[in-house]
Amino acid sequence: MDLQKRTWAEISLGAIRHNYEAIRRTLPSGTRFLGVVKADAYGHGALAVSRLLAELGAEYLAVSCLDEAMELRSGGIGLPILILGHTPPTYVPLLIEQNLTQTVTCEAKAEEFSAVAAAVGGRLRVHIALDTGMGRLGFLCAGRHFEAGVKNVIAAVSSPHLIPEGVFTHLARSDEPGQGARDFTLGQIGLFNDVLTEVSKISGFKFPLRHCASSGGVLNYIPEAAMDMVRPGLLLYGYGDEGRLGLRPAMSLMTTVSTIKHYDAGTPISYGGTFVTERRTRMGVLPIGYADGLLRCLSGRFSFWTAGGQAPQRGRICMDMCMADLTGLDKVNLDSRVEVFGQHNSLDELARTAGTIPYELLCSVSKRVPRVYVD
Ligand SMILES: *Cc1c(COP(=O)(O)O)cnc(C)c1O
Repeated sequence: MDLQKRTWAEISLGAIRHNYEAIRRTLPSGTRFLGVVKADAYGHGALAVSRLLAELGAEYLAVSCLDEAMELRSGGIGLPILILGHTPPTYVPLLIEQNLTQTVTCEAKAEEFSAVAAAVGGRLRVHIALDTGMGRLGFLCAGRHFEAGVKNVIAAVSSPHLIPEGVFTHLARSDEPGQGARDFTLGQIGLFNDVLTEVSKISGFKFPLRHCASSGGVLNYIPEAAMDMVRPGLLLYGYGDEGRLGLRPAMSLMTTVSTIKHYDAGTPISYGGTFVTERRTRMGVLPIGYADGLLRCLSGRFSFWTAGGQAPQRGRICMDMCMADLTGLDKVNLDSRVEVFGQHNSLDELARTAGTIPYELLCSVSKRVPRVYVD
């Protein structure tokens, strides 16, 4: 490891492989696998994860924006890539040249993309997004919008300058327990199918790739949400399965002990002196702070895993470092490995403590933290 032994994220490619295979096993044969690698593969490194997914046989990748897609193409990834968010129409020539698939989120965008593609004499591969209840992107088609939605989808797929390869919707409550969430989700899936049936009845057009399941859909709504393709992100990285698929966390956020101090009782620790030692204390200074992704709101509210036991974090988390109580942890010394979350410390629990979800903590691990790949 060519690290300065500061702070690093250990990424187990073996865990991602294991998770990919565990997800695959739950799918009907013939359902394609789109791996979501947006936001640098949820902090795991988009290029490394995409290479692995390509090797494992994933059929598609998805990112959030053109820059993320270009990073993968520049890195030699040849798989089809779906851009889930908006791309300004001026980039249509680049999308076509790089063989990228663009999401189309409304009739106006369909017209703009189509016009630019026509001007350069090309055809843009697209997936149409339907808003069946997420209340975010997509053609409106719920309730009184049904007929107009169908009409707009037909207009979009009729453009000679678009290649309407796919259609998808995003489920807003598929990871939620309870009958209310179940009814809502089945309603979304039902509406999605109804729109497609109506489009096909009127125009004869059938989309080759229909997809609606992100991680929640894969976990809770197979087979009805499997369709032609699924789009898991979080599950690939080892979270969100409630233990049901036996997934393994892929990332361990690791740091070390850079300094050890011995304080008398009554010594205030860090900004604001919010923590005061109650006894003689062996305190470690750890080179990880909120600029590395260790949220400041976790100050004083969690413990680090060490080989000698749990070490409570003390005082306010600073930008680049924070303190941990090593009293009685005699095995823990300068340069000892310390885990924030991963193999030993649950990310789910840390996220709950921070009042957020595992997604946000994974994405918060900053650019400054080197990713170290192990198999
Ligand atoms: C992020 C995203 C996904 C993946 O979601 P997970 O919950 O991580 O599986 C799938 N589809 C869309 C449209 C997304 O934005």
